[in-house]
Formats: sequence, C-alpha cells, structure tokens
Amino acid sequence: MAKKLEDYPTAEAYLPERITLPALREAAQECRGCPLYKIGTQTVFGEGKRDARVMMIGEQPGDQEDKAGKPFVGPAGKILNDALAEVGIDRDEVYVANAVKHFKWEPRGTRRIHAKPNAREIQACKPWLTAELQVVKPQMVICLGATAAQALMGKDFRITKSRGEIFRDTQYAPWLMATAHPSSILRMPSSEDREAAYRALVADLQVAAHELGAAKTGR
Ligand code: SF4
Repeated sequence: MAKKLEDYPTAEAYLPERITLPALREAAQECRGCPLYKIGTQTVFGEGKRDARVMMIGEQPGDQEDKAGKPFVGPAGKILNDALAEVGIDRDEVYVANAVKHFKWEPRGTRRIHAKPNAREIQACKPWLTAELQVVKPQMVICLGATAAQALMGKDFRITKSRGEIFRDTQYAPWLMATAHPSSILRMPSSEDREAAYRALVADLQVAAHELGAAKTGR
C-alpha cells in the first residue's frame, strides 16, 4: 500500500546532532521527511554567510534551482538580485532559503510546472528552516510570498494586508517583513503589470533597507 504523507517522519528525523550550516546542508541531502524527495532532483538547501544580517525565505526551489541545487538562481532570483541592488541591500549580507527544500512540480507536456506545496509538506520541512534561523540568527527575516510568511507567522497571515510592514521582536528575528515572491511578478499578464509589481517589491525592500541602514548608523 502506498505510504501516506502522515506516515513520513518529517525533517526532524534527519537533523544532525550538531547544528551547523555544513552539517545541516549535508544531512538535508538525505532527507526523506516527506514524499517530495521522490519528485525533486535534489534537496536545495539555503545559501549565504553564517552571520548574514538578512534571511530571505521563498516558497520552494523552481525548475532551474532544482537542477542547479542552489536557491534563487533562476529568473525569480534575477528579479530579487535586481531589486536588492536597487535598494542598496548588499547581496552578500543576505542568506537565501526556501520554506520547502524540494521542487514540487507537475508535468505539462515536456515542461515541469510548479505545484504549490501543501500545509503538511511545509510543516514537514520546517525543521530545516528553523535550524537555519537558529544558526544564522538574522537581524531581519524577509518572507517572499504567502507560503514562507504563513510557515512562520501562521496560516491567517495575508501578504495583501501586511506586506511591507515590519513586525518586531518575533521568535525568528528582531524584525520580520513579508512581501511578494519575485516569481509572482513573472506570472503577471502584461509588462505594465510586471513593472507595477516589481516597483511594489522594490518599495517593500526599501522599507527593509531603511531599517537595516538605520540600525547600522545607530539611529
Ligand atoms: S521537502 Fe523537506 S521534508 Fe520533504 S523530503 Fe525534501 S527536505 Fe525533506
């Protein structure tokens, strides 16, 4: 009989004894905490410096990230890099990760189309994200999209209502903000809509940059 999602042990069962980024990254490659390991090519673990001031969290790796084994290297990553450069957040100060570490997809012809991870899969993968947050201890967490925001802030969190707002003294970081996922910009139907959505992303990141800059100068 096929194994049901609730029969999988979650990522908790695969966490290493010593919680360091190299140990976590290595252990995550062997994760079988939910069935997504069967359809993704590999675990795409977070990347960045251990002492990064900012952690940005997306939903899950995309097609190109799945092949490369690295987060945010595809078209969404390019948008994110452009937006960060525009607001003056140093990409080297940012640790990037996903709420779910395997690519969930459905076939459409010869293409692999993104499929949204469900609540159980997000919960099953959360121990990796929690461990990354524990090690990096970022000053600011920026959730990109509803999946990451709801994974950390609960299922009632709405990007439409609370994007660009700074939440203080959260259990994950002194500051937490949510904004749209850059891949949502790519899905906009017209170039005008894409431009408007990109400007909205930049405006949100500007708020984050201001806060980070103010902290640096000891405001
Ligand atoms: S998605 Fe997360 S919990 Fe599921 S197998 Fe991959 S790493 Fe493990």
